[in-house]
Amino acid sequence: MQPNYLQLTQMFKRILVANRGEIALRIIRACHELNIETVAVYSIADRDAEHVRCADHAICIGESAPSKSYLNASVIISAAELVGADAIHPGYGFLAENALFAEMCEASGFHFIGPKPESISLMGDKISAIKALKPFGIEPVPGSSDFDSDKSLAQCADAIGYPVLIKSAFAGGGRGMRIVTSAKELPQAMKEAELEAEHACQNRTVYVEKYLESPRHIEFQVLSDAFGNVLILGERDCSIQRRYQKIIEEAPALNLPDDQLKTLHGKITKALQSLSYIGAGTLEFLYQDGHFYFIEMNTRLQVEHPVTEEIFDVDIVKEQINIASGHTLSIINPKQNGHAIECRIVAEDPVKGIPSPGVITQLRLPGGPGVRIESDLYQGQMVSPYYDPMICKIVVHAKTRDDAIKRMQCALSHLLIEGISTNREALIDIIQQSWYKNLKSTTHSLNLHFKAAKDVISS
Ligand code: ADP
Ligand code: ADP
Ligand code: MG
Repeated sequence: MQPNYLQLTQMFKRILVANRGEIALRIIRACHELNIETVAVYSIADRDAEHVRCADHAICIGESAPSKSYLNASVIISAAELVGADAIHPGYGFLAENALFAEMCEASGFHFIGPKPESISLMGDKISAIKALKPFGIEPVPGSSDFDSDKSLAQCADAIGYPVLIKSAFAGGGRGMRIVTSAKELPQAMKEAELEAEHACQNRTVYVEKYLESPRHIEFQVLSDAFGNVLILGERDCSIQRRYQKIIEEAPALNLPDDQLKTLHGKITKALQSLSYIGAGTLEFLYQDGHFYFIEMNTRLQVEHPVTEEIFDVDIVKEQINIASGHTLSIINPKQNGHAIECRIVAEDPVKGIPSPGVITQLRLPGGPGVRIESDLYQGQMVSPYYDPMICKIVVHAKTRDDAIKRMQCALSHLLIEGISTNREALIDIIQQSWYKNLKSTTHSLNLHFKAAKDVISS
C-alpha cells in the first residue's frame, strides 16, 4: 500500500539508514541538519564504524556478509519496528533498487525514501525502462528495444551489425557485459554474460545493443515530487571509467549543444510526469557523434550526486526526504555556478586491480576551500573485505574546470592512506593527462591509457 503523499505535511521524526560507509554518514548528517533522529544498522564487521557512532541509535542486524545483514530486508524492517522509525533511507547499492524491499517498507508502515515500487520495477529492468521511455522520444542505443519480436539474440546481433555489446537486464556495476566482435564469438560470450548476470542478481536475462566505440557517459540528475513538479539538475560527465565503473565524475558536462540538451530536458520532464515518477533519479545516456542514446535509469541517490550539489548549491538527500514526506520540491530554478569534480578512492591493488582490505595505519585527509570529503575513514580502521572497496570520495568545487583540476591535484597529493593500497596514484596520473585536461575523454580513454602504460613497461 502506498501512503497518500498528499496528506502528509510533517517531516519525519526518526529515519533508519539501511546502509553503511560514506553514504550512511552522508544521510545521517543531512537528517541531523533537519532535526531528524537517525538509526544506524550495522553488521558485526562494522561495530566500530563511524556511521554507528554518529547515529542517535544503532542496531546490529547480523553477520558481516551482506546477505546476512545489509541485504536482509526482514531484519532491517524488524529493526525499524523496534526503534519506532517512521521512514527508511536505503542509500545506494544494497536494497536501494529492490522494489520488494520498498513494498515491504510501505506495507509495514514505514515510508521508503525513494520512488514507488512500480517505478523501481519498471526502471530496474533495463529492457522495460528502454521501452517505457521510447514513446517520449528518448532513443536507446540501436538494437536495444527490439526484444518483443521473436528474434533470437543472434538474429538481433546480425541485424545491428558487429561489434555488439551483450548486457544484463538487471545487474549493475558493469556486470554481465561482453563485447562481441563477430557471430562466432556470440554463443560463448552469451554464456559468460548470463552466468555473470545470474551471479550478480539471480537473473540471467541479457539483451544486445550496438557497441559504441567512442562515447561519453552523460547523465541527468532529476528530482520529482508528488505534485508533478520535475526538476533536472543538469548533466554530469562520468566518462572516466574502468571495467564499466565510474571513477572520476564531473559537473557540468561541457561541450554539449544547448539546443539538444533543452529538447532532451523537455522529453525527460514529460516522461517522468507521465510515469508519475516521485523522488530522485538519474537517466544515463551515451553521447556519440552528436546523438544521445539512453542506456538506463537509476532510481536512487547516485554515488556521484555531490558534484551536482556543489554546482547548484542544493542538498539532494534533504530534497529526497522532503519529497518522501509529502512536500513540494523546495528548489525552484537553481543557478549553476563553477565546476565540480569527484574522485572515488578505492582500496585496491593498483597493478592487479583487486581489492586491498586491511588496517589503516596512517590517515591524512585533504581540506581547504572548495574541498569536500565524503568518507567514514579513521586511523586504525579495518577496511573490511566484505564490502565495496570504494572507501572515500574527494569532491572539489572551483570557478573553472582548470581550477577544479588543480584543486583536485593538490587534494590528491595531500591525501595519505597507509596500511592498504589505493588508486590514489592512478587518479593523480589521469587528471594530468592532456586528453583529460582537454575534454577529449570517452568511456574508453582509461583502458587505452592503461594499455599503453602496460605496453611501455613490457617492451
Ligand atoms: P550498469 O547498470 O552496469 O551501470 P550501464 O548500462 O549503465 O550499466 O552501462 C555502464 C557502462 O558500460 C556505460 O557507462 C558505458 O561505459 C558502458 N556501456 C554500456 N552500454 C554500452 C554500449 N552500448 N556501447 C559502449 N559502451 C557501453
Ligand atoms: P552510480 O551509478 O551511483 O555511480 P554505481 O553503478 O557505480 O553507482 O554503483 C554503486 C557502486 O557502489 C557499486 O559498485 C556498489 O557495489 C557500490 N556500493 C554500494 N553500496 C556501497 C557503500 N555503502 N559504500 C561504498 N560503495 C558501495
Ligand atoms: Mg549505469
